[in-house]
Amino acid sequence: MIDVLVIGGGNAALCAALMAREAGASVLLLEAAPRAWRGGNSQHTRNLRCMHDAPQDVLLDAYPEEEFWQDLLKVTGGATDERLARLTIRASATCRPWMRRHGVRFQPSLAGTLHLSRTNAFFMGGGKALVNAYYRSAGNLGVQVRYDAPVDRLELKDGRFVAAYVGSERIEARACVLAAGGFESNREWLREAWGRNERGEWPADNFLIRGTRYNQGTLLKFMMGQGADIIGDPSQSHCVAIDARAPLYDGGICTRVDAVSLGVMVNREGLRFYDEGEDFWPKRYAIWGRLVALQPGQIGYCIIDSQAVGRFMPPVFPGVRAGSLPELARALELPEAAFVKTLADFNAACRVGTFDHTVLDDCRTEGLAPVKSHWARPIDTPPFYGYALRPGITFTYLGLKTDERAAVHFGGVPSDNLFVAGEMMAGNVLGKGYTAGVGMSIGTAFGRIAGTSAAAAAGKGVAHAAA
Ligand SMILES: Cc1cc2nc3c(=O)[nH]c(=O)nc-3n(C[C@H](O)[C@H](O)[C@H](O)COP(=O)(O)OP(=O)(O)OC[C@H]3O[C@@H](n4cnc5c(N)ncnc54)[C@H](O)[C@@H]3O)c2cc1C
Repeated sequence: MIDVLVIGGGNAALCAALMAREAGASVLLLEAAPRAWRGGNSQHTRNLRCMHDAPQDVLLDAYPEEEFWQDLLKVTGGATDERLARLTIRASATCRPWMRRHGVRFQPSLAGTLHLSRTNAFFMGGGKALVNAYYRSAGNLGVQVRYDAPVDRLELKDGRFVAAYVGSERIEARACVLAAGGFESNREWLREAWGRNERGEWPADNFLIRGTRYNQGTLLKFMMGQGADIIGDPSQSHCVAIDARAPLYDGGICTRVDAVSLGVMVNREGLRFYDEGEDFWPKRYAIWGRLVALQPGQIGYCIIDSQAVGRFMPPVFPGVRAGSLPELARALELPEAAFVKTLADFNAACRVGTFDHTVLDDCRTEGLAPVKSHWARPIDTPPFYGYALRPGITFTYLGLKTDERAAVHFGGVPSDNLFVAGEMMAGNVLGKGYTAGVGMSIGTAFGRIAGTSAAAAAGKGVAHAAA
């Protein structure tokens, strides 16, 4: 019988598999996706948020534990378990040498990704290279990997894992790690979670999924049915406004449009609906998906002029270009009069000080609702550009409750041999909101802990020895 069965094939699963194998356990990893699509949402990532007390290779200055914790507290509004959050933060300070040993390489923050060079370590080659490095290392260490192996249910006895089923095939193991992501790819479940709005629309029908199609939440739903303790709200998700032309799945990072704070956003009625300059973009980009989801037709339009060009990461699709604002309204099929009035009112309300996109500058609107708090400059320099944006779901927050050993809980009692990592438990640390790079910090910390705990439960290594 195998010692440790790991279910999932992204960052958290791979960290768990590598740690369990390093502890001496035999390991089998089951990935729902075919080989070419392995790696879940992790294949789309770019960086990991890291605590550090002094400059470290690719990281500038310092990002101390307390600052990381305060950032997390702010974005979650307190929906976080401080013990598990601090554990994640501390682990982020020490995991990179281990990652390097398994072939992950880092590079300085990319030009155009504002304000992240201090806090986030970027993977050279992105998440795809990270995932490939981990699979290569896992193969070299003797981890068995099976692709096209979606687990649809588990056999549990008194809170203990007994076996997993891939269709009719039964796979036993001494311990198991669940690292099968959230349920963001399950459109039916998203529909149910978001419900119907006051306009009679089903908002989730207009959502796009930024990552893998394989995170269907099958095991999350199964575990809920088995009475596992759950954390998080099913309607909460990390949701970004992405280019409406993006594919339904796997559009990845390049479909994001990072120009919002440089211009204005309007809805399909041509009206503004939120402060585009509330805070730095990395701290605000993840609120815009939900804001757009609340608009009629779940669509918004980012409008910029030529002053903004070159100041944001170029998106993969070019913007709709026009020589005047009325022409842009027509090209975007927006009500021309309302749109032109919105832009005229905005332009008239701008109080331009010293424009500086790298600080919370003093360019703001006055007497306008909603206000634009920073980087407000009249949109008056042709050519003008517009991007239609839709809500793009990154991941959901609903997950399994856990503890410092990454154990799954039933009625408050931790399982001795069933563990959880990554998005399936991220809601313990990140109940809502987001700060860039923390998904990989949580998955790396808890993947490593879960792997060590599972090996120990199978009689190999000592829990937490290396985590
Ligand atoms: C476009 C994009 C960019 C992102 N950028 C960043 C970033 O730069 N930094 C950051 O920290 N976070 C980022 N994230 C979030 C990040 O991807 C997640 O926090 C992280 O990858 C979660 O890791 P995971 O291993 O839990 O899930 P995943 O990587 O999604 O892995 C889940 C795995 O489980 C498999 N699976 C699902 N169901 C089953 C089943 N029933 N049986 C077997 N296998 C199953 C899937 O195929 C997949 O391999 C990004 C997400 C997206 C979509």
